[in-house]
Amino acid sequence: MATQPVLSLTDIDRSYGQGETTLQILKGANFTLNAGETVALVAPSGTGKSTLLHIAGLLEHPDGGDVLVGGVPCQHLGDDQRTAMRRNSIGFVYQFHHLLPEFSALENVMMPQLVGGLSHKEAAERSQQLLDYMRVGHRAHHRPAELSGGEQQRVAIARAVANAPLVLLADEPTGNLDPETAAYVFSALEALVRQSGLSALIATHNHDLARRMDRCITLVDGKVIPFDA
Ligand code: ADP
Ligand code: MG
Repeated sequence: MATQPVLSLTDIDRSYGQGETTLQILKGANFTLNAGETVALVAPSGTGKSTLLHIAGLLEHPDGGDVLVGGVPCQHLGDDQRTAMRRNSIGFVYQFHHLLPEFSALENVMMPQLVGGLSHKEAAERSQQLLDYMRVGHRAHHRPAELSGGEQQRVAIARAVANAPLVLLADEPTGNLDPETAAYVFSALEALVRQSGLSALIATHNHDLARRMDRCITLVDGKVIPFDA
């Protein structure tokens, strides 16, 4: 059986204007993520990891090229269709948790499911299961500010997978944590991804963590190339 790509980036260009000059960050970048595959994106700061992930997550438009999610080209989708694609097919974890401060951990994980049409009861049950799986279930009724950095990230990961996305994108998800906490959170993330057969692209500076993925890539001169971590 041929492997089905869940995410493809084709000939992606992206530049930013800086005063008089333009900074070309991505120059014909190509990347394919297959179903059930985990990939680490390892590259120095400033090389375009976040830019690539934001484009892959339909949070930003490339200047050229296209993003295919589940085989669907996204370049010409309207804003509503892009939003729906993001909500149903893509989970995103940021370096900083981005949880809604006025809601509990449980409510934060429930939110995307309620927007996606699940009943309150179903969403609450699934959210509690995800929080339990991430070993933060006992903190379900606390607000983000009452949680440690590692707990906040585990809640953010639970939220990212709440709608059973096709692809999980994570932008240095443990970059803001001390090494011990980072290892713990990364292991929980890895277990969840492996257990659910999710495809994941994870940017990380940590080569030890990167090596645990199926393969590694890096960015050189605006292009994606294989990397030996
Ligand atoms: P990384 O995540 O690998 O550290 P980024 O994708 O955040 O890299 O940024 C790549 C380069 O693009 C950096 O030089 C950064 O300063 C620049 N950049 C990123 N976003 C913007 C923006 N909105 N406007 C101008 N320059 C930007
Ligand atoms: Mg970044």
